[in-house]
Amino acid sequence: MQVNKDAAVVLLSGGQDSTTALGWAKQQFKTVSAISFDYGQRHRVELACATRIAARAEVPHRILDLSLLSTLSHNAMIQDSVIEINEENGLPTTFVPGRNLLFVTLAAAAVYQSKTPNIVIGVSQVDYSGYPDCRGNTIKSLQETLRLGMDFPFVIHTPLIYFDKKKTVELAVKLDVLDWLADSHTCYEGKRPPCGECPACQLRAKGFQAAGIPDPLLR
Ligand SMILES: [Zn+2]
Repeated sequence: MQVNKDAAVVLLSGGQDSTTALGWAKQQFKTVSAISFDYGQRHRVELACATRIAARAEVPHRILDLSLLSTLSHNAMIQDSVIEINEENGLPTTFVPGRNLLFVTLAAAAVYQSKTPNIVIGVSQVDYSGYPDCRGNTIKSLQETLRLGMDFPFVIHTPLIYFDKKKTVELAVKLDVLDWLADSHTCYEGKRPPCGECPACQLRAKGFQAAGIPDPLLR
């Protein structure tokens, strides 16, 4: 089967990492598109952010309905509950079980017919809140599953996998996409301008501070 090696799809959540991953993909591949998922996330502002970022990047963007995900589990990303560590599994209550597995699999299904092998996701196993589906071994295993299950040479690219937030900010500068981050969304409280106090806001602020660069979102 023919493979369009110059084509990639980017999983664009509207957050800082996926926005930077989109900038990376634009530099690596000739044909780039972006895909986002509406999974009933509390902060629908993310999807509007993703749309604006895709427009800045001048890439086609589609939002797929995955509202089913919100019916499968209770967590702080979807329902209005407290962000804390779940004592049973040691993971934050923001963990959505199966989310990245579904996202990557659906993205692969969506680009299969256009013979696009490259799937780009901005996960990091450094500043990753302990989510097991952000780890390199999960991604490697999923890549193998997709290759076998669709008999197509998918490659899952994780340009930020070993990056902390400081390095992610520095990469955005290097790729000349820092401005795009003005449209990215991070705050767990769903606030714009961001609350500055939730764990996500604090992690983001720490990264910009360490890189010595002002956050364009706060300008
Ligand atoms: Zn916040």
